[in-house]
Amino acid sequence: MYEVTIIKSFSAAHLLADIGGKCEELHGHNFKVEITVAAEELNSNGLLIDFRFLKKSLGEILEDIDHKHLNDLTLFAGINPSAENIAKYICEKMDIKVKTTDANMVRVKIWESENAAVTYIP
Ligand SMILES: [Zn+2]
Repeated sequence: MYEVTIIKSFSAAHLLADIGGKCEELHGHNFKVEITVAAEELNSNGLLIDFRFLKKSLGEILEDIDHKHLNDLTLFAGINPSAENIAKYICEKMDIKVKTTDANMVRVKIWESENAAVTYIP
């Protein structure tokens, strides 16, 4: 089994309703997104997947949430735009793209700060 991980960042504002404390107020993060894909076998070029494909795919997905007020987006309608829900959203969008290759999504990890991260595993 081989795994490939790439990292990209985006910035966004959100507030988390009904959890108490400061996070109920509007605030922002520079989120770091780590996505990992895996495959049993390498392709004929000795690669699991082309890094450029992964970076381009993740970049397209982040384009929709970068520099946005996440609570205002229809994709988070009715749910808190928590790091957990953002990770699930990114994973589901990436899965559609990665499915066109021989690799599978393994996890999406989102760092909300230097020392706090969440992981979504499909
Ligand atoms: Zn926050």
